[in-house]
Amino acid sequence: MAVSKTFTADAVRQAQAAGQRVFGENYVQEGVEKICALRSSPEGAGLEWHCIGPLQSNKTRLVAEHFDWVQSVDRLRIAQRLSEQRPEGLAPLQVCLQVNVDGGANKSGVAPGELLALAQAVDRLPRLRLRGLMSVPEPVDGFDAQRAVFLQVRDLFDDLKSRGFELDTLSLGMSDDLDAAVAAGSTMVRVGRAIFGSRPARETSA
Ligand SMILES: *Cc1c(COP(=O)(O)O)cnc(C)c1O
Repeated sequence: MAVSKTFTADAVRQAQAAGQRVFGENYVQEGVEKICALRSSPEGAGLEWHCIGPLQSNKTRLVAEHFDWVQSVDRLRIAQRLSEQRPEGLAPLQVCLQVNVDGGANKSGVAPGELLALAQAVDRLPRLRLRGLMSVPEPVDGFDAQRAVFLQVRDLFDDLKSRGFELDTLSLGMSDDLDAAVAAGSTMVRVGRAIFGSRPARETSA
């Protein structure tokens, strides 16, 4: 996945011209503007858009109406709203649960001990399709240390699969740790700066 947050629709078009099809956005409003801009051209029709940023309740409708995937679901209330608000004419919203394996309580992501219950509840929502797990570990130095954290997420993923969940997406790894993520079994790396260059500073949130 190419993470195009803070970059322009033109940057997305250039990546698309080079063959990239899957894009990730963190900020809902910014993402929706780009999705609408790209979809208004014929080439933009085949793109797949993933929401990867923290989600507030008041933004779920925009996400449900425009994105193809949400990788940052970490509580049931958000999942319920996304399911209720997903338009009938669209395919179910593809969902990953974001897991917090190493952070404090303030960090986004469901705690490992609460993951199974959340997965069971999300799996029952009619307009969502549970595809896998996503995680954004705290930065650590060195391949082995990075891989060790990713392997904790991999274990949770394998555990859910062994319980009968049909999951195919383990979304791990960014520009600085993607090698370790792939070594731990990532099926989808989310790469921003290594594709688009360094990001401009951003003033406002969401
Ligand atoms: C920004 C972001 C990325 C991409 O990070 P880079 O370091 O630019 O590759 C991936 N995942 C999430 C959730 C992000 O917020």
